[in-house]
Amino acid sequence: MNLFNMVVNYMILKVLTEKNKKLAKVCAEVKCFDNKLHKLLDNMKETMYKNKGIGLAAPQVGILLRVVVIDIGKDYFELINPKIIESSGEQQNTEGCLSCPGVFGITIRPKFVRAVGYNRNNELFEVFGENLKSCAICHELDHLEGILFKSRLAKFKDPAPNKLFWKK
Ligand SMILES: [Zn+2]
Repeated sequence: MNLFNMVVNYMILKVLTEKNKKLAKVCAEVKCFDNKLHKLLDNMKETMYKNKGIGLAAPQVGILLRVVVIDIGKDYFELINPKIIESSGEQQNTEGCLSCPGVFGITIRPKFVRAVGYNRNNELFEVFGENLKSCAICHELDHLEGILFKSRLAKFKDPAPNKLFWKK
């Protein structure tokens, strides 16, 4: 075996936590679909898997570009300059975020979404999300607007204290 073939060609990136102001910024559109972007995507993918996340947005690793990676366990995909073009229905999910370690809360999200975005080769494609996948798409696209899931927590009419909906 040639040890020189074992070079790791990606890096695990540091995931910023919620106090970092970058997470509150609106991200810029990607203009260059170059090697630098591909490297960012590869690193984000490995960082997501390493942290057992189901999605990761570029601002979470300090890059203020409209780039997300998602894998809810069935299929990995990358979305660049994404837009939700249709959404319907409603679902409740217990959500968390790699940038808010240990914090979980119930959100209400669309049950179905249709989004369009570009792949790493600058080709437009459409993605359809249902249930958890819909939730993940909405969560990651929110990051591109500087929105964290904590500001989406469901407001219950029930007077029960918040602790019912928060797990630490
Ligand atoms: Zn998140």
